[in-house]
Amino acid sequence: MATIDITNLRKEFGDGNERIVAVEDFDLTIQDGEFLVFVGPSGCGKTTTLRCIAGLEDVTEGTIEFDGEDVTDRRARDRDVAMVFQNYALYPHMTVRKNIGFPLRLSTKKSTDEIDDEVEAIASMLGIETLLDQKPRELSGGQQQRVALGRAIIRDPQLFLMDEPLSNLDAKLRSTMRTELQELQTELGVTTAYVTHDQTEAMAMGDRIAVMNDGELQQVGTASEVYRAPENEFVAGFIGSPSINLLTADVDGATLRGPGGFAYEMEDPSLVEGHDRIRVGVRPEDLELDPDGGMPSEVTVVEEMGNENFLYAVMGDIDITARIESVIHPEAGKTVTFGFDEEDLYLFDAETTEAVKTK
Ligand code: ADP
Ligand code: MG
Repeated sequence: MATIDITNLRKEFGDGNERIVAVEDFDLTIQDGEFLVFVGPSGCGKTTTLRCIAGLEDVTEGTIEFDGEDVTDRRARDRDVAMVFQNYALYPHMTVRKNIGFPLRLSTKKSTDEIDDEVEAIASMLGIETLLDQKPRELSGGQQQRVALGRAIIRDPQLFLMDEPLSNLDAKLRSTMRTELQELQTELGVTTAYVTHDQTEAMAMGDRIAVMNDGELQQVGTASEVYRAPENEFVAGFIGSPSINLLTADVDGATLRGPGGFAYEMEDPSLVEGHDRIRVGVRPEDLELDPDGGMPSEVTVVEEMGNENFLYAVMGDIDITARIESVIHPEAGKTVTFGFDEEDLYLFDAETTEAVKTK
């Protein structure tokens, strides 16, 4: 187990004028025993960050410390980390038993019997004890992923690094494995950095979530913190499904004026004082149908979810999504008016995209 300190990390690829900055200005501490999830769109630098922590990439700048010890120049195999990948990376010609036991056979003086005992204990923890004599190709995706996990666990590392380990599984299995992985991590208590592009997965799994965009860390916090108190517009837009509704409004005294006839008079104008233009955000669950609401919109589609309806509409050229009670079912083409409570508004400065008001 370990506390991981990443300071001023920068990673560039390429040379000369063909340089790509994959990660920059990156500072983060992963607490001992924590399950930290890196999330962000494809290409934002998640895998690169993980590979720098693992020692699989040389860093361009910055330091990485494990429990206060500088490991920046230490080789991957000397860092005592175990990585689990999306594609499992099992040895096809080896049985499950051999695959899981492989790291021990490679690195310790343990006897074959001792290794077999450990393999069996871990296999039963993962529910794959009956598969030990099979080959990877005879297993389902979920079973293969468990073998890959077993191979990581048997090393008893101070840190687990997992790069989209569930993304090749179907939706149902992915959600079961999420829970299992979390339980396993809690049981083992090993510090874990986990990468996903899926914000729902990040929200469900992480003790804390590190939201990345374009090589930079945007915010680190619990699921509730990044949802309710996003520090900028990117985090607000990325976290939450369906996504937050956003529009640009001119600040005219206490009134916010936007496209498609949007007009809203602030109860507390001091919130927007000093800002010329504001990005106004409202989460789909915070919109309500209200004739005096100030957001006249034309309904395009209503999706019935059973316990609620998703209402898609357009206000001018702005798409609006609302989650409303299942008993309310306006027809497509109809004009409705949405409203909201001011306390539910998310406001961002239109130039800097920094939060001006959150929940
Ligand atoms: P993510 O895992 O978030 O999808 P990556 O860390 O894989 O993102 O990539 C971040 C950026 O670095 C991307 O622009 C990607 O093209 C670039 N990149 C990643 N690995 C390499 C490499 N080995 N050589 C050159 N560019 C790379
Ligand atoms: Mg990646």
